[in-house]
Amino acid sequence: MKGGAVLEQIGKITVACFDKTGTLTVGKPQVTDIISFGRNEADVLRFAAALEAGSSHPLAKAILRKAGERQLSLPPTSDANAIGGVGVRAVVEGIEVFVGSPKAAGERAPMTSEQSSQVSALNHEGKTVSIVVAGHEVAGAIAMRDELRPDARAGLKALTEVGIKAVLLTGDNRRTANAIGEQLGIEVQSELLPEDKQRIVGQFQKEGWLVAKIGDGINDAPALAAADVGIAMGGGADVALETADAAILHGRVLDVAAMVDLSKRTMINIR
Ligand code: ADP
Ligand code: MG
Repeated sequence: MKGGAVLEQIGKITVACFDKTGTLTVGKPQVTDIISFGRNEADVLRFAAALEAGSSHPLAKAILRKAGERQLSLPPTSDANAIGGVGVRAVVEGIEVFVGSPKAAGERAPMTSEQSSQVSALNHEGKTVSIVVAGHEVAGAIAMRDELRPDARAGLKALTEVGIKAVLLTGDNRRTANAIGEQLGIEVQSELLPEDKQRIVGQFQKEGWLVAKIGDGINDAPALAAADVGIAMGGGADVALETADAAILHGRVLDVAAMVDLSKRTMINIR
């Protein structure tokens, strides 16, 4: 905890907003399924990996690892842009290629109802699905699964037991997020962009809540900064450590409740 003011503040929080990837999950997703729609499986993975080569997002690392295992050679990309909380786009082999959230992919190339229902089925299993669009065609889909941290459920319960509301704020798809929220027993808000996460923190504050935001800071440094107490966790972005008021170093969700308890006991001792 960075200083006395933070130590005092943490014991007073009334709502804890958690990030999903790398915070409540281990943050090492594995590719479980590659689905070929307009392109063959190897192309789907090759295109996605080429785009992800410059990204530090956990999903990017999963895709690159899989392409490495299959020893695919990656085509060069030009004009690449990461779109925070959405995905990555670039030009590959002369065509505009995108990999990212189903919602954003749908704005580039709509999926058929059969394709959508295949993706939904994977979401219901708690898997995150990124869609690959090549030109105006849905090339395929890549599903990834990230394990929950072993103490995630217990760590959230420890907060609710002392009267702190716990909420999951995620950019992931609604069905995936709800499947995970159900396993954890907490309220979920999904399909959020980085600015939406920040706005929700602000809304809570307007309603009189004292807000903690816990996350790795990849794409959501603004929400971390906006919270009354920003807690960095998951070792993601260095910016998180700089922006945050406190940091959890060993990925223990239970440490949030431990910080609250330490704060309360310290304040009692001082008084
Ligand atoms: P979270 O809230 O879990 O931290 P993000 O806001 O980082 O999630 O991303 C939201 C969604 O956008 C992901 O579930 C994924 O579908 C898509 N996405 C974001 N970045 C990438 C990327 N680099 N590669 C593939 N998909 C991505
Ligand atoms: Mg994130």
